[in-house]
Amino acid sequence: MKIKLVLIILMMLFGTLTASAQERVRSDIVKTSAGNLELTFIGHGSLMMTIGGRIIHFDPYSRMADYTKLPQADLIFLTHDHPDHLDQVALQIVRTADTVVILPPVCADRVPGGTVVNNGAALMVFGIKVEVIPAYNIVHKRDNGQEFHPKGVGNGYVLTFGDKRISVAGDTENIPEMKALQDIYCAFLPMNLPYTMTPEMVADAAKAFKPKLLYPYHYGDTDPTRLTALLKDTPDIEVRIRPMQ
Ligand code: ZN
Ligand code: ZN
Repeated sequence: MKIKLVLIILMMLFGTLTASAQERVRSDIVKTSAGNLELTFIGHGSLMMTIGGRIIHFDPYSRMADYTKLPQADLIFLTHDHPDHLDQVALQIVRTADTVVILPPVCADRVPGGTVVNNGAALMVFGIKVEVIPAYNIVHKRDNGQEFHPKGVGNGYVLTFGDKRISVAGDTENIPEMKALQDIYCAFLPMNLPYTMTPEMVADAAKAFKPKLLYPYHYGDTDPTRLTALLKDTPDIEVRIRPMQ
């Protein structure tokens, strides 16, 4: 009898653990003229996108997922060199000899063999147009007065898949270059405080460049429903909250 009870408790516990693991990695499909784009929400600043059999990882971070269980990358984007964005453990797992790694100069020493790109660059990789956009702080600074993310160091990326443009902002605020973005279908904007944006800053940027889908990502302890509330009178922007703490 006792053994049965223990078994039942163990099964319940296992069930709960499996359920929470499944919640961590969720995905959405975006239909594009180049095929279905699958967005996988790994957590924090880490995303995976899949289209036409190609696997794209953004800022793979081993604390967010067991990368040995995820497909290896054809393409990796690194936004900057902070340890939650440039993680050698995850990189060694997802990178193969054939992986193209796109990164800013600040990451180049630690990730040899990558394709180094600056703010403003544009290139084609596997038929995907990649535009490199700035990512920096204007307001939020360290005690010594230095921005958490100084201008010109980090990158954000806009990827064009057929008829849809997807932006992944990196660690940034609602900078003028972001507010001037055009024709973005889906945007990932960070809300991890104090390092990036408040929900008010994200709402300000979103109202300016009007993505159809807005995913707050890398939001840490910031309550993402605050963003939904701020954009409740902007029905053209759909805020999608996913497990991206
Ligand atoms: Zn950072
Ligand atoms: Zn970060």
